[in-house]
Amino acid sequence: MTRILLLGGTAEARALAEQLTADGVDVTSSLAGRVADPRLPVGEVRIGGFGGVDGLRAVLRDYDAVVDATHPFAKNISANAAAACVPDTPLLRLERSGWSARSRDFWHWVDTHEQAADTAARLGRRPFLTVGRQEIERFIPALREHAVLARVVQAPEVALPAAWRLVTSRGPYRLSGELALMLEHSADVLITKDSGGDHTWPKMEAAEQLGVPVVVVRRPARTPGVRTVHDVVDALAWVRVLPTMAT
Ligand code: NAP
Repeated sequence: MTRILLLGGTAEARALAEQLTADGVDVTSSLAGRVADPRLPVGEVRIGGFGGVDGLRAVLRDYDAVVDATHPFAKNISANAAAACVPDTPLLRLERSGWSARSRDFWHWVDTHEQAADTAARLGRRPFLTVGRQEIERFIPALREHAVLARVVQAPEVALPAAWRLVTSRGPYRLSGELALMLEHSADVLITKDSGGDHTWPKMEAAEQLGVPVVVVRRPARTPGVRTVHDVVDALAWVRVLPTMAT
């Protein structure tokens, strides 16, 4: 039986784990352990870092192939997987498509979170900040005095400025709720990263309907040379032909 290590933490990874399990594939999902109560995929799960490239390479002795379905902004684990899988372990990157094809003229693309903070500080006074807990600290210097509404899955450890309001919730979100939240806050600029996919897309629609500008952080560069697919169906097809590749 093919043994797959599935690097997860995304909805796509959970969907793939479910499909692979239904197919009778021996799959172990790996989560970083960032949130206290993660959404768990079906099947076997391991939680916590591997200890860098060498640690991951050691773990790979127990697997036939790796699917890296981590978040588009989780660049370290993807780089580690690319390095650890060379030369013997087949590696597939499953990465949902970004939003650049849907970009509008009121979107402001930037390369870093600091640039996003500076751009948002110029564009508005009441930002809706949706970049996730890990990056939130990088917005404090530029937006300390702004009336920020920050939405995260789990509260950050860092102390937030007095002018900020924190809401904790987990997507997927609906357009009606995003409209209500942005109206209630009188949000005048939305800050997001190019996470892509549909689960968090309604905030972009809400911004458009409300005439609110959007600041979008571009995705980090990917490790070149890694075979990549953009949806679960194609990842499933890749796993299904693995046994024939090995013979
Ligand atoms: P990262 O910066 O790329 O990874 C930092 C370290 O965390 C890695 O070197 C690795 O530690 C460990 N790690 C990350 N993902 C892992 C996984 N799936 N299984 C085991 N260890 C993992 O990652 P991140 O941006 O902190 O994201 C952490 C996890 O959250 C990812 O799995 C990702 O899919 C999920 N996530 C991230 C975001 C985001 O915006 N970054 C959003 C939603 C979900 P070792 O070097 O010790 O192996």
